[in-house]
Amino acid sequence: TDMIRFESVTKVYDQKSRPALNDVDLEIDRGDFAFLVGPSGSGKSTFLRLILREDRATSGSVYVAGKNVASVPSWRVPRLRRGIGVVFQDFRLLPNKDVFGNVAFAMQVIGRKRHAIRETVPEVLKLVGLEGKERRLPHELSGGEQQRVAIARAIVNKPGILLADEPTGNLDPATSVGIMNILDRINQNGTTVVMATHDDDIVNSMRRRVVELDNGSVVRDESAGEYTAMI
Ligand code: ADP
Ligand code: ADP
Repeated sequence: TDMIRFESVTKVYDQKSRPALNDVDLEIDRGDFAFLVGPSGSGKSTFLRLILREDRATSGSVYVAGKNVASVPSWRVPRLRRGIGVVFQDFRLLPNKDVFGNVAFAMQVIGRKRHAIRETVPEVLKLVGLEGKERRLPHELSGGEQQRVAIARAIVNKPGILLADEPTGNLDPATSVGIMNILDRINQNGTTVVMATHDDDIVNSMRRRVVELDNGSVVRDESAGEYTAMI
């Protein structure tokens, strides 16, 4: 069954420009791992923003976990987003909170109890390989470690979907491989992962689903693809 479904989705930001997404039909199954590739301006971020209901489709429908996101009332959008973890290229950690505090904060804002936070945060930090670094502040961490904190924060509330927008864009190749191993493990635990990327080495080594956008249209969709079309 599909976790994310786009039905004839068009997104127009500006009537004078071409659509950012143009009649996109796409299904991403529960448990899938999909790379979203394509040149800058091809519509990758727009695709992710529509899933998060940060924007609305101009026409067509976006379904997340069977729900048409356009019909979610605004007061329920936070609950929709709670089911979706997000990771960015620039980490976006809270600079004045330590590693533990950054991850704990995601649980606090949804009202989880202290005992649940104390139990869950260490488990998630272990999953991303940050045991022993709980007291570090973001500026005391390497880029790869900061991204691990961001991933821990994104998954601590057990979302069904993890969206990653260029998560390895600021990292060196070896560090990027470590991040991909974590995303792979999260996916193997059942989370649907969608990752927008320009990292051809990563895409070519993972051999997962590749969806390529160009000018707002899906121009390629392969189940074990490479960064660039093989034909
Ligand atoms: P990508 O993530 O692949 O770089 P985007 O989804 O950011 O692509 O952009 C797709 C197109 O939509 C581009 O032409 C971009 O300029 C345009 N666009 C994106 N966001 C906005 C916005 N908020 N307002 C106007 N145009 C936008
Ligand atoms: P505050 O709201 O005071 O900024 P934090 O976000 O730093 O709190 O921490 C949230 C929760 O995690 C609290 O229960 C706090 O006691 C606990 N906590 C924070 N940092 C650590 C840490 N390094 N090790 C263990 N527990 C921590």
